[in-house]
Order: sequence, then C-alpha cells, then structure tokens
Amino acid sequence: MSNVADRALLWMRRDLRLKDNHALFQALTRARQVFCVFVFDTEILDELEERTDRRVEFIWESLTEIHMLLQQHGAGLIVLHGRAREEIPKLAARLGVNSVFANHDYEPEALTRDDAVRATLNQAGIDFVTCKDQAIFEKNEVLTQEGRPFSVFTAYKNAWLKRLTPETLAAHPSEQHLNNLARISASDAHYGVPSLESIGFKRTDLKTIGIRAGISGAATLLDDFLERIGEYYETRNFPSIKGPSCLSVHLRFGTVSIRTLARAAWERGGRGAETWMSELIWRDFYFMILHHHPRVVAHAFRPEFDNLRFDPDNDRYDAWCKGQTGYPLVDAAMQQINNTGYMHNRLRMIVASFLVKDLHIDWRWGERYFASQLIDFDLAANNGGWQWAASTGCDAQPYFRIFNPVTQSKKFDAGGKFIRKYLPPLGACDDKFIHAPWLMDANEQKRVGVIIGRDYPAPIVDHAAARLVTLSRYADAKQTYRLHAS
Ligand code: FAD
Repeated sequence: MSNVADRALLWMRRDLRLKDNHALFQALTRARQVFCVFVFDTEILDELEERTDRRVEFIWESLTEIHMLLQQHGAGLIVLHGRAREEIPKLAARLGVNSVFANHDYEPEALTRDDAVRATLNQAGIDFVTCKDQAIFEKNEVLTQEGRPFSVFTAYKNAWLKRLTPETLAAHPSEQHLNNLARISASDAHYGVPSLESIGFKRTDLKTIGIRAGISGAATLLDDFLERIGEYYETRNFPSIKGPSCLSVHLRFGTVSIRTLARAAWERGGRGAETWMSELIWRDFYFMILHHHPRVVAHAFRPEFDNLRFDPDNDRYDAWCKGQTGYPLVDAAMQQINNTGYMHNRLRMIVASFLVKDLHIDWRWGERYFASQLIDFDLAANNGGWQWAASTGCDAQPYFRIFNPVTQSKKFDAGGKFIRKYLPPLGACDDKFIHAPWLMDANEQKRVGVIIGRDYPAPIVDHAAARLVTLSRYADAKQTYRLHAS
C-alpha cells in the first residue's frame, strides 16, 4: 500500500465505540483515510486463567457490532491476534499510515506497552498520538492549591466539581466524521472479527445471565437507569433492589462515553444524580491515584500498613472464594460474583472487609480473586476499593471501623431477599435467623430443614474474636512503623 501522508490508524483498546471517541475524532479530523484496529493482545490473554472468560466474549461481541456499524460506512474493523507491541507497528507500516491514534490508558503495564509501541513507530517515522477519553479529568488536571495530587476524596471531588464546565463535558463528535474512514472491499480478508475459538476462547454464559455487550447494550442500560436515577440515593445500597446502573462493564470497555454519563447526571441534578456523579468522580479519583502512585499496584498506599501481619490460610481463602464462610450475606455475595461476574458495590465492601478483617487474609489475595472474576475488573477501581476496605488506602475506611457482617446483612438485606436468591438452601429460614442461621437451635433447624454443618456451613470464624485480632495487628503495624521512622 502506498505511503500517503493523510492516512491514520485508530488503535481501539478501552474505547469500543464510534460515538464521542476522542482518539477517533482526532484521527478523522486530521486524516482523510482512517483505519480502525483492535488487537486481541496475547500478552493479556495468556495471563487469563480460564478459556471461558466473560470479558473476552464481551469484547468479541462489542467488536462484532462495531465491525457491522463500520461496514454500513463502507469501512471495516481490522482485528488482530498477537502481541500488540509488535502487531501495531507492523500494521501501521503495512497500511502506510503516518499516525497512530489511541486513547490514554493509566495502568502501568499498558503504559510500558505504549512506550514500546511509540518508540517503534517513531523509529519508522510514524507519530503515536494519544488522547484523554476515559476520564473527565486525568493526571494533573485536578490538583491541590499547592499543586500536589489530592489524597482526600471530598477535597478532590470539590475541586473536580469546580473545574466542571459545559466544555469539559463536551463530546468529541467522532460519529459526524465517519466519511473519512478508509473504504474497504467486502472481500478483503484483513477485515472482520475472527471467531472466539480461533483466538483460543469459548462462548460463556454472558447471554444467559443477561449481559448485553456493545454500544447497543450500554445504550439500553443507560436509558433504563436514567428513568430511576432520581432514586439512586435511596436505592443504591440495597442489593436486592435495582438501584445502581450496572454500567461498570461498559465503562470498562468504553462502549459508552464517560462524558455522556457525566453530562446526563449534571443536567438532571438533584440528590440521586449528584450521588451518582460522585461515583463517577471516585472513578476519576482512582485513575488519578494510580497515575501518581503506581506503587499501589503491589503496596499499601499508606506505608505504615505495608507490613501488616496476615495469615496465609488457604482453607479460609477457599471458603471465602466459594461462598462457604457460614455468613450468609458474604456467601450470597460470593455466589453473585461467581455466577454473574458482577457484585453490588455494598457487597464488594462487605466481602472485602470480611476477607481482610475477619479472616486476616492479605487484601492482595482478594484483589486478585476479584480481578479474575469481575466482568468490570478495572485495576485502578479494584485496587482502590480493596485498599479502601483494608484501610491501607488513600482516604480509606479507618482501620478500627470493621463491618459486622450480620449487622450489615440486617441493615441492607433486611428480609433476606438477596440471600435467599443466591443461597437457596437457606430459603426456608425465618427472617429472624436468615442473617445468622447458626443461632437456630436443633429443633428450629429440623423444622425449616436446614441443618448447620450439613445444609449450610457453620461460621468459619467468630466475628467478635477476629475483630480484636485485627485491631491489635493494625495498631502493631502503626507502632512498628513509627519506631522505624523515628
Ligand atoms: P453505579 O453505582 O451505577 O456507579 C456508576 C459508575 O461509577 C460505575 O459503573 C463505576 O464506573 C463508577 N464507580 C462506582 N463506584 C465506584 C468506586 N467506589 N470506585 C470507582 N468507580 C466507581 N469498580 C469497577 O469498575 N471495577 C472494579 O474492578 C471494581 N472493584 C471494586 C472492588 C472493591 C473491593 C470495591 C469496594 C469496589 C470496587 N469497584 C469496582 C467499585 C464499585 O463497586 C463498582 O464500580 C460498582 O459496583 C459497579 O456497579 P454499577 O455500574 O452498577 O455502579
């Protein structure tokens, strides 16, 4: 192919949409012929434990939709399978483009990959242009008055909101320039989405659990959520109620634009929309933390808790992963993540706290398990969430605030509706016992047909005793740190 100066390549990663896609907009408005590519990166795929992975299927479905939409414009999607750091420069050279466009990523490994791609492209005289797309404000855009990154969320949020203007929420209307997409002939074998099997994966239960991928899936969820955003403040904490948006997987893969969501919340206003906007700001906050403090990937944000004592207890960890701790809300929540790849935010906080502060297991073990299971897994948010629950993070839950799993259950799943949905063996328990079934005496167990130790596990830990151990370990860690520092 000839090397014309006005050819560009859009490298899609976490931005699987054609509308309001910043890098696509830049490419389409700067070049006359824009090619689009996605790489199933073997450096990422080879790390996945299972060959049935809902996220891979989600991406695959989303790409299939994008290819179809591109075809409506006489264009198409190039989908490659290999190491992105090699495939992108090779493709750029083959297409004869003079620039490659992509949207910013904030994860350390992605940044290393992008640096490598940039270096190879530049050597070949090709520009690598990256744009802000996944966040409203990123990197150094919201700083303290002293020019430092924030470490307290509320202060960050206030500064974030102060910076908000219609311009900062304005769309990059890429969809209006699709005429500049490179035309392809229908028979060109370089275009189209390869089968899941050909990249080494299999279909999952994505459809049966009701997750609709792609731009259309995101739009359906958003329409549905906007009908009830006004009640978000009241409903968001109760896992048996349809309170939250469930848009996290779409934000993860960029099948919806963050600007569309933030604008919708801003325009609506009111308590529900403002509370939801706060959640979107948490997302920016954790991207910012990861950008400024990449060491959080392996270490506590608060160095005094880097040497906390944990128990490397595989049996307890397995019981937690399988939802067999004997604490119904914890176990039901683990069934939710295992069966659907999603877990309600309140439950993420409860099970994370339980793993760290009741079972005394390293928060990094839990973080890794979530990373393997969550369809919306995002390094920044997941690390932030775990470090919040473990009290090791920036603006985290104070270490002496330890969720009582029974009290949380009574408060947020009062009638046990969520528990009963995910733990059918407990279905017949009275409301009085559903949160702590081990309190049923032998007669009651017989009456409802739930024998503790046979039909449902006895608690693997005593919360009150575990709490005291936790308090003393955190206090010890602080004390040791102080001694070393002085
Ligand atoms: P909604 O309540 O509708 O919120 C809207 C959006 O705001 C979410 O989709 C998400 O993008 C963002 N958001 C909400 N809460 C947070 C938060 N606390 N931090 C950052 N962003 C937030 N979120 C992920 O997207 N990926 C993860 O891997 C992840 N891991 C978590 C691990 C733990 C231990 C905890 C406590 C939280 C984690 N969260 C994670 C944050 C939060 O639980 C999910 O974003 C939320 O439950 C997703 O559901 P939703 O889309 O219905 O959220």
